[in-house]
Amino acid sequence: MRALTVVPGVAGSARLEERDEPEADGRRLLVQGLALGVCGTDREILDGDYGWSPPGAERLVLGHESLGRVLDAPEGSGFRPDDLVVGIVRHPDPVPCPNCAAGEWDMCRNGRYTEHGIKELDGFAAERYLLEPEFAVKVDPALGLAGVLLEPASVLAKAWEHIEAIGRRARWEPARALVTGAGPIGLLAAMMGVQRGLEVHVLDRATDGPKPALVADLGAGYRTGGVEGTCDLMDVIVECTGAPGLVVDVMGCSAPGGIVCLTGVSAGKKKVPLDAAAFNRGMVLENDVVFGSVNANRRHYEKAAEALARADRGWLERLITRRTPLSRWAEAVEPQADDVKSVIDLAS
Ligand SMILES: [Zn+2]
Repeated sequence: MRALTVVPGVAGSARLEERDEPEADGRRLLVQGLALGVCGTDREILDGDYGWSPPGAERLVLGHESLGRVLDAPEGSGFRPDDLVVGIVRHPDPVPCPNCAAGEWDMCRNGRYTEHGIKELDGFAAERYLLEPEFAVKVDPALGLAGVLLEPASVLAKAWEHIEAIGRRARWEPARALVTGAGPIGLLAAMMGVQRGLEVHVLDRATDGPKPALVADLGAGYRTGGVEGTCDLMDVIVECTGAPGLVVDVMGCSAPGGIVCLTGVSAGKKKVPLDAAAFNRGMVLENDVVFGSVNANRRHYEKAAEALARADRGWLERLITRRTPLSRWAEAVEPQADDVKSVIDLAS
């Protein structure tokens, strides 16, 4: 069977290669890979900037945004052949730390967690793979290909869960939310904000392409230009770009008692000045919160599966703007104008 592999740390080392067929072992699910979502982390790994091979191996199978179909499921696993499944990306560290021990590996304290397709566990860019049932999540079959959005959606399900946990520190009646960035993460963040009954605004640079209509069809407002004037009195801000200038801007403009959730991983070495005194004064005098959020545990995947099941399927499918066969993976990972989510078709 074919798998897309890479030598982590070596730019341009990715290749499609033949690997031995995985064999059902009576414990794990044997899964037929259907689709794989491509994201910025994959591009970082392909560029040699991130990623770790499994211990003792030179190459890592890429891919962490999965969708597969169960071919073989052990008795008592809770799964059956033909179930659509998504693999949970992160596994707990071996110590384990207190959070991993409680199933909250997204909050790992010692950094020794492992991640499929990223850190020491082979990923899902393969025609077939094995999944531990406790790290597999069932997807509503009605979602079809849109089930590949479950992993990115899980990251936002966690972000919203934590926003609400912080909100409960006092009486909290949020009305307005701002999402920065209308990529897949931003659009899923906006979708979940609308599902919560909030007035949602999405800020992005794009003035054409599919993003303005995707936002409008959610019932959210689409904004271009700067944060100033867009972001006044936002109770919740979900920052999804990691662009340093935007991060500084949104941290300074939430409503009193506002919550700013940072989800973007900044790249590059651009330095942006921050007036620490003004920032501190604003934070203190308005009881503001700025926090970071990454990854997801099983509870978040389950919440994300519910959110996707409640969403309009046609809208979700429009997030998948390109489908490319595995044999042409290099095209799939090359960013294109008007991309929202590029997906590699593993079954064609
Ligand atoms: Zn841990």
